[in-house]
Amino acid sequence: MPFRLVLVTVACATLATIGFVACSDTPDPPTSPVPDTLRPRFDGGAAQALIERQVAFGPRIPNRQGHADQLAWMLAQLDTLADEVEAQAFTHDHTRIPGLTLRMTNVIARFRPEAERRLLFLAHWDTRPFADQARTAAERAQPVPGANDGGSGTAVLLQVARHLADQPPNHNVGIDLLFTDGEDYGPTLDDMLLGARHYAAEANPDEAPVYAVLLDLVGDATPSFPAERFSLDFAPDVVSRVWGVAADLGYADFFPLTGGSYIQDDHVPLNEAGIRTANIIDFDYGPGNSLWHTPDDLPIHTRASTLEIVGEVVLELIYAGG
Ligand SMILES: [Zn+2]
Repeated sequence: MPFRLVLVTVACATLATIGFVACSDTPDPPTSPVPDTLRPRFDGGAAQALIERQVAFGPRIPNRQGHADQLAWMLAQLDTLADEVEAQAFTHDHTRIPGLTLRMTNVIARFRPEAERRLLFLAHWDTRPFADQARTAAERAQPVPGANDGGSGTAVLLQVARHLADQPPNHNVGIDLLFTDGEDYGPTLDDMLLGARHYAAEANPDEAPVYAVLLDLVGDATPSFPAERFSLDFAPDVVSRVWGVAADLGYADFFPLTGGSYIQDDHVPLNEAGIRTANIIDFDYGPGNSLWHTPDDLPIHTRASTLEIVGEVVLELIYAGG
């Protein structure tokens, strides 16, 4: 995940509307929580194992072996779980490194592809080439292992795919899981959010999902997901729904509506393209965010219990139908 912007304006009007904005094109969702008999419980331990597996591939940096290995692994799994899997290949010429063309692939797994009403959940699967927030120059030259940054959101969505295959929802809402590539290449924003930009450019506006939810940095030992400010500006009703579901599940303390920042991430190009997207992000990884973009972004610092909280929110939204 990228960087926090300096907050220069305060969109207090946006905060004031939270909870009072109706989603005009969203039918009333079923009552939450969905009864236990109608949906699976998210398996946080299995998701933690999926993080460990990803880190074992090595850094998932475009054009490198670990990236290719993880892509093949994701496609093989999703082919057995989803109704339809698309590998959306694209390239990007790096804006600062002459001659470097990044070869990347977004992966889209669709459940009930024929359904008109759809929900989209996304996470980036690539990892950052350089640990630019590390303390020493030697560490800053190393890649980020990406247990939390890349690995956690991907693990939650892969585990969601397993649950969807095991116990399909008893409604006719289609679910799309989007694994974006090239979110974290950098070092600057010109060479980040690449997969989300490509997806947004290719998306058919007539087939936009009802809403989308981005997961990023969702595995920290001390979870905190304050409502992110671009999400509040672009999609306040989506934030209201997602954070409301978290509260229904007893997670209100982990999902405060205030205290968030503006964070440049994959949800920004999607929102700009009209796909209303909220970002569930914990931009405080380790004490004082000391683990973010460092070589210490390792599975010992992610927790099944945190992945379970986020996974439960996602499953609740999915099985409620929106
Ligand atoms: Zn990152």
